[in-house]
Amino acid sequence: MMTPKEYIDSIKKLDLTVYMSGRRLENITEDPVLRPSLNAVAATYSLAQNSDFEDLLTATSHITGKKINRFTHIHQNSEDLVKKSKMGRLIGSQTGCCFQRCVGMDALNALSITTYNTDKKHGTEYNRRFLKFLEYVQEHDLVCDGAMTDPKGDRSLPPHRQKDPDMYLRIVDENKDGIFVRGAKVHQTGAVNSHEIIVMPTISMREEDRDYAVAFAVPSDTKGITYIIGRQSCDTRKMEGGLMDQGNLFFGGHEAMIIFDDVFVPNERIFMLREFDFSGELVEKFASYHRQSYACKAGVGDVLIGAAQTIAEYNGAEKASHIKDKIIEMNHLNETIFCGSIACAAEGHREPSGTYMVNTLLANVHKQNVTRFPYEIARLAQDISGGLMVTLPSEKDLKSPVTGALIDKYLKGNENTSTENRMRILRLIENITLGSAAVGYLTESMHGAGSPQAQRIMISREVNIREKQKVAKRLCGIRENEK
Ligand code: SF4
Ligand code: FE
Repeated sequence: MMTPKEYIDSIKKLDLTVYMSGRRLENITEDPVLRPSLNAVAATYSLAQNSDFEDLLTATSHITGKKINRFTHIHQNSEDLVKKSKMGRLIGSQTGCCFQRCVGMDALNALSITTYNTDKKHGTEYNRRFLKFLEYVQEHDLVCDGAMTDPKGDRSLPPHRQKDPDMYLRIVDENKDGIFVRGAKVHQTGAVNSHEIIVMPTISMREEDRDYAVAFAVPSDTKGITYIIGRQSCDTRKMEGGLMDQGNLFFGGHEAMIIFDDVFVPNERIFMLREFDFSGELVEKFASYHRQSYACKAGVGDVLIGAAQTIAEYNGAEKASHIKDKIIEMNHLNETIFCGSIACAAEGHREPSGTYMVNTLLANVHKQNVTRFPYEIARLAQDISGGLMVTLPSEKDLKSPVTGALIDKYLKGNENTSTENRMRILRLIENITLGSAAVGYLTESMHGAGSPQAQRIMISREVNIREKQKVAKRLCGIRENEK
């Protein structure tokens, strides 16, 4: 397994084409806007080397028997799934942001199932290719980006009827050695911190969309791939030289658009080639695994609750009964998020490939909760913080010989607390609920791993409504088939 330093060095060696704020980045690992996101992924390496967390962060490879990072592991039982949920919460609670590496883990596990099932039906050899790729990922302890979401253009039209045929990633050419693909993947969490990009279709495809039914993995610096980094609110604060106004001094996340301009994919790296009948299964498996992964939000919630309690104390308000009750409510919601992730893991089952899969219904219920609860937790944190969170002067004003003493005098809270510390904790709450980390804690909670409606469709499909009706009718004496 790699050390955090080896990981950062390995990303440094990549020759990525990255654009941000109108310029090409020469040195992404040292860029002040991106560095916190690299640090967050590096935490998945450092925590794996900490003996206290070894049990959660590492696993035994089912293909080589070697010790590997859990982010590269294929779940072999429900216990593995439960450990995955606990690992997500742990790292979220240590970084206070999105640590990005789960997407690749979820893509690997989904592919381990669908490549096997596709081979059984079509006599293909995707599972062999996949296992070879997996061994490479495990051996080198790599970060994979799980690239699913296409731009999608006009949502009312299927891929082949889009005015611009590239609105969904597709095969544009092929030869005996492989295929050429064109298109884009958007909202890609941790894209430029990844060694490999795993591409999957974004929706269930039909025969007419065969050229869009494609899954593969390519090194992230493959010729023809371009990354365009997405903006985050308050992102330029990271370029100001100071640190306090960032809120979180160490960690952050990033999302990027990935453009594939006729990128070549060798046969050995292709895991689906026009088997459109398995595109839906791959989407569903990946989505359910990734919905489970949102235990990370309980981890970030831990940080936010800690910050809310701290500002209450700094303000001298911690004994007020409504503040205590708001903290209880935040904990109740946060632990409910965790319950959902643990439940879908504990109720996991074995797929024909041997991989353990989460309970689909519970994973979708869990993610549906995540589209709501972090917003409520954030609302309560802002309530407890007071308006100062958004009217606070800058670190530079605090340090200024002209205004510093005034700020220090008038923004003081509890006499045992410094004004600077009060400002620091407010900045952290701002960062998670409004600033750059809110991308991960709020909007990603809403849309990541599928928007709320996607989960509602799955919930309606997965619940056995007829069985519920049957029992209700029996208990009150309505006979079967009676209206
Ligand atoms: Fe992982 Fe959570 Fe970030 Fe998704 S949002 S990549 S599950 S940390
Ligand atoms: Fe996500």
